[in-house]
Amino acid sequence: MHVIIIGSGVAGISFAEKCRALTADAEITLITQENDGYYSRPLLSRGFTKDDIEHTIILKTFDKLRDSNITVLSDTTVTSIERANKMLTVCHADQEKTFNYDKLIIATGSKAFIPPPYRPFNELFFCLNSLSDLKTLRRIRASVDKPNWAIIGGGLIGCEVASDLATAGDKVTLFHVMDRLMERQLVPEDSATLKQVLENSGVSVLLNQTISTLSKAQEKISITTDTTQEFDAVIVACGFQPRTELAAQAGLAIGRGIKVNDQLQTEDEAIYALGDVAELPNGKLYAFILPIRNQALWLANHLAGQAPQNWSPPVFQTKAKVHGFEAAHPYQV
Ligand SMILES: Cc1cc2nc3c(=O)[nH]c(=O)nc-3n(C[C@H](O)[C@H](O)[C@H](O)COP(=O)(O)OP(=O)(O)OC[C@H]3O[C@@H](n4cnc5c(N)ncnc54)[C@H](O)[C@@H]3O)c2cc1C
Repeated sequence: MHVIIIGSGVAGISFAEKCRALTADAEITLITQENDGYYSRPLLSRGFTKDDIEHTIILKTFDKLRDSNITVLSDTTVTSIERANKMLTVCHADQEKTFNYDKLIIATGSKAFIPPPYRPFNELFFCLNSLSDLKTLRRIRASVDKPNWAIIGGGLIGCEVASDLATAGDKVTLFHVMDRLMERQLVPEDSATLKQVLENSGVSVLLNQTISTLSKAQEKISITTDTTQEFDAVIVACGFQPRTELAAQAGLAIGRGIKVNDQLQTEDEAIYALGDVAELPNGKLYAFILPIRNQALWLANHLAGQAPQNWSPPVFQTKAKVHGFEAAHPYQV
């Protein structure tokens, strides 16, 4: 049996390793666009206060996985899935190649969600969604003396990034469209505490902000609301968007993510999806490390005939990694 996994995030890697441990005779191939190894995405938002982060963020090298008899094709993009022939096409260094699978696991994760009003300005801002994004942002920090950043989005990631940049010594302004921070996860009292903690660390927090335009002049980016302010660089952190394009092209059902049943199986019985990209029958996406790892281990057990009938989410909590902030009430997840 040939099992192919697309993606080397926590979903793809946890599944591949568990599958290897349970099924000695399966051929396992993991295909990923990444080149740096398997890294901790949560640590990206602590990427400015830690000098050695570009090395310490790597949890496992791809060679280590290859040593466990998992074929890893890195720096390789899956460009299409042909369900009728159980075949996919990949591209590496401008060369195309095809592979046949018996079981296909789609663990393509998510990209940063860019709200439509900002899309015309996509040359003028950055996101923080991958190690390569972090390396780009760190290069900017290294090239400007005490950079002046704008963060657009006062959700979990926006607050974490603002906090880490300010703690690292940079000037930071956080623009949020709503009247309080992390309004989806925190009660109003905790939002107010979070704002105070960020302001104490030097972040200028601007609420109720509608941005009308971004523009560039002489290496500075201007953001216009009812006033105009200049920054060295802008980061948009407005949530995530599951990477569903491959599945959609292959004719699989898509909602917000790839639709799966309670066994993480798509409508094609040979294809499963898990992680940020999977949408469960209750309409939910479980875009946190703990439930994703739980999905991956469950699915490997299930395919080996060793898991109960359905996957059910474990109890989990999230926590904003904002320096000096503790919520007094449970987060909504
Ligand atoms: C800055 C930040 C901080 C976070 N902090 C936390 C936290 O504190 N706690 C928490 O629980 N969660 C946190 N999260 C969320 C968590 O990191 C994600 O839910 C989780 O990493 C998603 O894992 P995944 O394997 O589903 O997808 P991903 O990690 O997105 O991996 C997807 C993989 O698929 C590959 N891929 C995509 N398309 C293709 C293709 N066509 N061909 C080949 N490869 C492809 C990508 O290169 C990537 O390797 C954070 C996320 C971010 C961005």
